[in-house]
Amino acid sequence: MKGVWLLLVLVAAAKAEKVFTGDQVIRISAQSEEQIQLLQALQAQEEWELDFWLDPVSAELPVDIRVPRSSLSHVTEYLGAHSIPYSVTINNLQELLDAEKTEMKRNQMRERRTSSFNFGAFHSLETIYSWMDTLVAQHPNLVTKQEIGRSYENRPMYVLKFSTGGKNRPAIWIDTGIHAREWVSQATGVWTANKIATDYGVDGSVTSLLNKMDIYMLILANPDGYVYSHTNNRMWRKTRSKNPGSACRGVDPNRNWDAGFGGVGSSSNPCSDSYHGPVVHSEIEVKNVVNLIQSHRNFRSFISVHAYSQLLMYPYGYHCGNVSDQPELDSLARAAVQKLTSLYGTTYKVGSICNIIYPATGGSIDWTYNQGIKYSFAFELRDTGRYGFILPANQIIPTASETWLALKHIMEHVRDHSY
Ligand SMILES: [Zn+2]
Repeated sequence: MKGVWLLLVLVAAAKAEKVFTGDQVIRISAQSEEQIQLLQALQAQEEWELDFWLDPVSAELPVDIRVPRSSLSHVTEYLGAHSIPYSVTINNLQELLDAEKTEMKRNQMRERRTSSFNFGAFHSLETIYSWMDTLVAQHPNLVTKQEIGRSYENRPMYVLKFSTGGKNRPAIWIDTGIHAREWVSQATGVWTANKIATDYGVDGSVTSLLNKMDIYMLILANPDGYVYSHTNNRMWRKTRSKNPGSACRGVDPNRNWDAGFGGVGSSSNPCSDSYHGPVVHSEIEVKNVVNLIQSHRNFRSFISVHAYSQLLMYPYGYHCGNVSDQPELDSLARAAVQKLTSLYGTTYKVGSICNIIYPATGGSIDWTYNQGIKYSFAFELRDTGRYGFILPANQIIPTASETWLALKHIMEHVRDHSY
């Protein structure tokens, strides 16, 4: 009898997960501003449940849309009627997700068998949290794990602090995974934390950095969303907070900061993936970081890591004018990207958020810049759309390795300009 119940529970759990069988991801290179407007109209309607991976903003930038199978004919008709050309980049999304899941299971078995942690694999929140304890145990004089608060669903939010001593030293912040489904971001965070810990005392640059400064890493900046993207909906982006009066859950935690809050590039619709939330810092996950930054008062750099599009950006997103440090931030970002490209030839674009992608309000690095943290940057990691959010695990280590060269370059500059 017990077995039957277990089976029922397993079937129920399996059913809870959203499937994407026959869903396609299509790419549109709009030919004109008029076509962009037509795509924006498409985005505004909710009936077809379209998931814009890349928003329509200008004719220079591609637009990626996940189209549910049930809406394919509507969308192709709409595009055809307006002579908007498109191509299919992912023919059946579920096939990619199945392959990803199979690979994760295979890796879990391998890790259990060998009692090792594979940096080239995606992991659950539990596994990442317990790996953090291993890292701390391996580097007790360098790394500590600190809880900065709890998430909406009461999960602890942990930062890894890398410090060789001193009191409230100038510090660098790195967060990954503020958007749940951008899995290569969190995986890059894990690899990077390990890299920093193992390079201290070995690599002269990392050693001199940590002899002067601290590094804080928040690898799971949106823990509830991350868990939900594993258990229920791989395409989940937002937090998991309840929205009063709406059946839709969650706020876009990168539209929730006190920087042009509620303006263009964010939505007031709780069902939208870029919903800004009811008020500034409504999301506890954002508030926990805000509190830490404000009580610490000595962060010199704040780096937030997203995917995908291969961009390195600096403020602002909430308006398109240049920040006063624009020349320095721009040349630093260009030099960092040159390092990144030197490893595998991966190309990146550099610019302010507003100028390189679109005006987006309520973003974290705009807020940190306005708090006086000059070296505020946001990365969009691999790729440029072949796999989008479903980047295969075999690209984690190459992505993290090339990104490290850029991060290191920025951190060296911060070290040399913070005293
Ligand atoms: Zn993102």
